[in-house]
Amino acid sequence: MYGYRCEYCGGLVRERVVDREMFKHRDGFVILENVPIGVCDQCGYRYYHSTLLHRVEEIAAKKKSPARMELVPVAPYA
Ligand SMILES: [Zn+2]
Repeated sequence: MYGYRCEYCGGLVRERVVDREMFKHRDGFVILENVPIGVCDQCGYRYYHSTLLHRVEEIAAKKKSPARMELVPVAPYA
């Protein structure tokens, strides 16, 4: 899915399977686990393949059920 050049620094975007990654969408966040993301080996910029974003959209639109829900703490800065 990856293996292309980073659009910011020209480094190589390598696939890395991370335990969890948080994706933002219109109404909130979805966390995917054991997800193959692309990470630039020079600047560290993270790339998300379209299949990942499609999955996030499916869960956000409630077409697919999440495995579980987690509460996220929210507080004002000051
Ligand atoms: Zn880069």
